[in-house]
Formats: sequence, C-alpha cells, structure tokens
Amino acid sequence: MSTTPRRVYGIDLGTTYSAIAFVNEHGKAEIITNSDNDRVTPSVVFFEEDGNTIVGKIAKESAKTDPNRVVDFVKRQMSDKEWSFSVDGKTYKPEEISALILKRLAGDAKKTGEHDVVDVVITCPAYFGDLERQRTRQAGEIAGLNVIEILDEPVAAAINYGLNEDAKGKNVIVYDLGGGTFDVTVVSIGNDPDKNEISIVCTEGNHQLGGKDWDDRIVTHYAAEFQTQASSSTNLLEDQETAYDLRFNAETDKKTLSNKEKVTRKVSFEGDKAVVELPREKFDELTADLLGQTFALTDKVLEEAKTKGVTKIHAFLLVGGSTRMRQIKEKITERYGTTLGVTPVEFDVDEAVAKGAAKAGEIHILKGKIEEIAETVGGGDFNSLTDEQKKTVIEKVAEETGVEDYVLETTSKTEFKKVATKSYGIRALKGGQPIVRNLIIKQTPVPTEGSQIFGTAGPDADEIDLVVFMNNESEADAGIEVSEELGQAVFPLDGNLPAKAPIQITFKLDDQGSLTLVGLDQTHGKTITANFKSSGVMSAEEIKVAIEKSNELVVE
Ligand code: AMP
Repeated sequence: MSTTPRRVYGIDLGTTYSAIAFVNEHGKAEIITNSDNDRVTPSVVFFEEDGNTIVGKIAKESAKTDPNRVVDFVKRQMSDKEWSFSVDGKTYKPEEISALILKRLAGDAKKTGEHDVVDVVITCPAYFGDLERQRTRQAGEIAGLNVIEILDEPVAAAINYGLNEDAKGKNVIVYDLGGGTFDVTVVSIGNDPDKNEISIVCTEGNHQLGGKDWDDRIVTHYAAEFQTQASSSTNLLEDQETAYDLRFNAETDKKTLSNKEKVTRKVSFEGDKAVVELPREKFDELTADLLGQTFALTDKVLEEAKTKGVTKIHAFLLVGGSTRMRQIKEKITERYGTTLGVTPVEFDVDEAVAKGAAKAGEIHILKGKIEEIAETVGGGDFNSLTDEQKKTVIEKVAEETGVEDYVLETTSKTEFKKVATKSYGIRALKGGQPIVRNLIIKQTPVPTEGSQIFGTAGPDADEIDLVVFMNNESEADAGIEVSEELGQAVFPLDGNLPAKAPIQITFKLDDQGSLTLVGLDQTHGKTITANFKSSGVMSAEEIKVAIEKSNELVVE
C-alpha cells in the first residue's frame, strides 16, 4: 500500500464563503477546518500594504477599515469581461482574485497532513456559462492546482445526497440559495440496486441573487430609517467605510433573525444617531420579492421536469447558507408542501457542495484507476470483465490506493448524468432580422452536439466567420436581445472552394459545460479546427503571467 496516496479535494468556491473537503479511506467526505478553526472561509481578499494577501475572516473584518484594499463577492464578477481590481499599481482580474482564495484553501488543507494539494474539483453555479467556467478553471491553474473537473454546485449537492442508500429511486429538487447565487435543480436518482445513477433532469438559476441581496435590503432599510430619525439629508451609504460597516452588521442581523424574532441596530454617522428595530415580519416584507424570484424559477424547473416525465418529487433539499433564513423554509412549505407533498429539509446546508465535489473527484480518480487496472487484468473495460477478474481489480486498486474494497465496489457502479445549463448558438438571419440559431439546447443531456451546414459566401472564400452566443431559451431560435455574445469563431478554409460549398459546423458541449467548435469541409471531407474561445478567457501566455504575479504574493 502506498503511504501517501494522492488525495483529491473538493472545493466549493462560494460567493461569500468557500469550503474544502476530501474523502477519507472509508468513503466519507470530510470538511477541512481552516487555520481560524472554521469550516468555511469567507471568500474575501485583503491586499496589505507590504504585499501580503490575507484571505478569509480577517480580510472580511478589514473591509470596515480598509475598503479600498478589500475584494469580496468576486464570483459575481466572473461574467464581467471588463471588471478588474486595482491596488498598489497592479490590477487583478476575477480569476486572479479567485486564485488567491483557492490558494488559501489549499494552504489550509496542506497544513492538515502529509498530502500535497494538487488534484481538485471546483464547483460553480449550474447557471455559469462557458466564460465563467473557463475562468473558474483558470483560477485553479493560477493557484497551481490541477483542476480535474468543474462541477455544478447542485450536482455536487445531489451527489452528496444521492450516494446514500435511502436516496435510491427518488426525484429530488435541490433549492440552493447561497451568498450570491441561486440554483434550483431537479435530480433523479436511479433505483437499480447494482448501479448508482444520478441524473440531472433540469436546472434553472440566477447568479445575481443570493444572501447578499437580502443583506442589501436591510442596509437600505437602515439607511432610510437613519435619514428619517436623524432628520439628516446625508445618505450614509455614500461614505464607503460606513456602508461597509452597515453591510457587515446587516449580515449579522440577518443571521440573528434566523433565531430571534427581532433585532435592534444602532446606526450613527457624523454625530447623528438612530435606533432601528427590525422585526422578522418587516424583514420578510422587505425581501418578499427576492423570495418570489426564487419561486418563479422553482415553478419553471418543476414545469420543465414534467415535460421530461418527472412528475413526482420525493424530496425537497435546502442547500446554501441562505436557506437558514426562517422564511425560506416556511414559505416553501406553504407554497409547495401540499402540491408536491414534501416538506423541505436542510441537508448539509454549508457543506453539501464541497463534500459532493470531493466525492465526485474521488470517484473520477478511482474510476480511472479501476479502468487502468481492468485493462491489465482482463484486457478490457471493467464492466466487460468476469466477476473473478473484477474482484482482482478491486483488490489491486485497494492495495494501491488504500481505499477500502466496498468503497471501490460502489464507486465502480456510480454514474453521473448532467444536462446543458445554457443554449449555445450562432447569429443568423430570419426574415431579414438577426436572431440566434441555437445548435445546443438547454437541458439536453451532455455530452451533446448540434450541427448546421453553412454555404461559403463566394468562390475561393478563405474563411467562415461566425458569432457565437449563449442564452437561456429552450427553443431553436432565440432573440438576439436575450442572448449574450461569447465571441467570434473563425474557420479557415483552403480558398479553393466554389461559392455555397457546404461547411458543416458542429458545436460540442462536454459534461463539464465546456464548448468546442468543429468544422467539416464536406467537399474535401476535411476537418477544420475553429479558432474559438469565449472572449474574456485568458490566453496561455496571460495565465503564465498571472501565475508569476500570484507567486509574488504571500497568501495567508
Ligand atoms: P453559502 O454561499 O452557501 O456559503 O451561503 C452564504 C450565505 O448564507 C451568506 O449570505 C450568509 O449570510 C448566509 N447565511 C449563513 N448563515 C445564515 C443564517 N444562520 N441565517 C441566514 N443566512 C445565513
């Protein structure tokens, strides 16, 4: 048995908090406690003047005194191609900031034992498109990690839940309200006793909706009450330090309201004071529309599930720190309790995603190992072997990895099936109007591909140019105004084709949500490699520079 088998880590890179987990030799996922002795680490980065970078609790506290040197909610910027943070004459893109958070988590994990922290699965909201996923992966690369998978958060939560025996045969809805994002997903867990099959049926979400928005409503309320009580014309939110302070307190008060009926907050600014009471009913009233937005998406995903034959929901899982707010559970019970016949249950609220990611990573690595040994034992894939040969493979893998036999047996039977979380297409003309023709439709099981044949514009054309878009529409044609441009795809041609020569363009979406484009010159039967990547994604050269820049910083 190897003394230090390579361990895979699951990382929940959250908008407000992040967590890291691994799977122990008994197949159980464990969260790693950070050096502050907490199980979650605030996703906040503080750039100290001496070049040190502090990530976590102290960084969050520093936001009050040094707001210009602190970055938080960076995950919300992953889709913004223009966003960057400047400090001490340097600028950092969202993936570079995220890399610092990952470095802190990896550093904490390394401190716990003799294992190197290299192989990781990082999670992202199901709602993330190609750009945000690539950037999340690159954040890992910049942090010096080997990202074996970018996994959707609800899939991770479902894996954490679905690998339990009593989950078999159930259709589950995962309502995941985190600090900055909301995802709602219907998952179907197969009931074949010889297999562990977890399939994503459909998923919806909003990556600009999370606990932070609930905090903001409290902040606005406190500021307005301050103005009324202090008869002040000053908007205290214009003062950055005060605004940070208020936001910090608002989050604390929100959490208090999860246990108490009412909070009282003193607000003072420039000598003026106010005392604001916030009863839970008022908080619910201030945020009712936010909850309504989550319900609209929940209704939508349930409708979509029906069209896919999933009519019965057996369990309603609450995931994400924000589901601790009392009204979430209460209102979900009110709204769905009778119609679905299920009561929402909290399931590993803060830890399900990191643990599920660790399990997915472990399964990925172990299945790879099982197949590698199966090849040497029986000259084929594991499933094609005799029972005797399978047993030998499991024993050998157990010996090599230190993982127990029964864990490997379950692993060899586990399969995850995911769906496309976005539609992807190209700009086309319909009735003279520009539209997006979707080649991959949202909610289709992945990996998937879709093709269309284009004719070359004129004789001897030397390239075909396409503009690639992404949207949330489930139809073949989507409005250009509801689609987001990902970038330009250029297919170089030989230049010896007649006009209208057929070129088949295929969009391929892999099971990690990564898009590639392939062309086929049908006249010559020749494959054309497209020069395409979502604009805003760093080039290999830029990543190298980012790694050097990141290595200059000490991360604590
Ligand atoms: P996550 O992204 O899943 O870590 O969720 C973080 C969010 O959950 C933040 O907005 C927190 O303020 C919120 N949160 C954590 N604990 C509680 C609680 N007890 N009551 C209300 N919200 C909470």
